[in-house]
Amino acid sequence: MKRVILLGSSGSIGESTCKVARALPETMKLVGLGVAKSGERVLAQAREFGVKAVAVSDLGAAEKVKKDLPQGTKFYPGAEGLSRMVEETEADMVLVAVVGTAGLAPALAALRTGKHLAVASKEILVLAGSAVMGEAKKNQRQVLPVDSEHNAIFQCLQGAKSQEVRKIILTASGGPFRKSSVEELKKVTVAQALKHPTWSMGKKITIDSATMFNKGLEMIEAHWLFGLPMSQVEVVVHPQSLVHSLVEFVDGSVLAQLSVTDMCFPIQYAVTYPQRLPSGLPPLDLAKIGSLTFETPDEKRFPALRLAREAGEAGGTLPGVFNAANEVAVEAFLEEKISFPRIWEMVEKVMAAHANEKKPELAAIIAADQWARAQAKTALQVAV
Ligand code: MG
Repeated sequence: MKRVILLGSSGSIGESTCKVARALPETMKLVGLGVAKSGERVLAQAREFGVKAVAVSDLGAAEKVKKDLPQGTKFYPGAEGLSRMVEETEADMVLVAVVGTAGLAPALAALRTGKHLAVASKEILVLAGSAVMGEAKKNQRQVLPVDSEHNAIFQCLQGAKSQEVRKIILTASGGPFRKSSVEELKKVTVAQALKHPTWSMGKKITIDSATMFNKGLEMIEAHWLFGLPMSQVEVVVHPQSLVHSLVEFVDGSVLAQLSVTDMCFPIQYAVTYPQRLPSGLPPLDLAKIGSLTFETPDEKRFPALRLAREAGEAGGTLPGVFNAANEVAVEAFLEEKISFPRIWEMVEKVMAAHANEKKPELAAIIAADQWARAQAKTALQVAV
């Protein structure tokens, strides 16, 4: 039985994780749940799974949750609550699916207190890949990828030695503007950008898929997770999103992992690893699908990939700056304050203005993140 603490239980990955827990009652037990402010939802989940602990980081939301918690549930309110719950609750694994940088401290806390870490929040490895992988190694714990691409690569790498890998190839759906011209990209509306062709996800990640910043972040994540230089991390556009990623080995052989697009697949594998268990998830009907297609991504129309490579190669605080500036830009786009191409233009500007710190401590990483947000907001005011 794997005891799992789930952070970000009300989000899209969180709900899918609950589905997996429901489907595998003999294998997986949720023992702790954390949310930012979705009080009603976390209460319902706490009752359903009978968890030992609940954390709510927003104090206003925490106030309401506290009154209605089932008897005997330990409660961790406030910003430090997620980390404290992780430290004090007995568990085998912590699955971090909270939005933004809030998952960073609890992820490190998980590894430090001897728990395996399942990562769904991109920020964790993008901002602090070196610290997280270092902590995992020190405590001999695993960092298991929940993101479908990294989970696919992780599956393909089973039994392989690192010197046998030539490169890893992340697949990207290409988003809704895969075929749009530079001129058309300038006129993209929020509603158009929120229509993802294959995956149904939160707003921020849907916009990130449309700009391909999501893939950029995934490139940096992959670099840390699998210990490969950025030059060995490639992207191929695959509109059907059925091949979740591939690994090319030194002999030229390529392994791929396929399944229908449902996040329950990678979540289940991360939780049950190193076992593979039966699931009730729908099988892949290749004959019905008929064809799978692949294209080279166009870095001219989607500069996020080039910027990600730059950030990943430079390392230090730059990947965090890449991420933070993008977050501010996406928010501004969603509020219809800037055009679609301004997202990457702003990120490029903020990155260029950053004095990169090569070997940052966690405090410096957070400081750079805040610096980039302020810088992007200033750029926004100039633009408006
Ligand atoms: Mg992904």
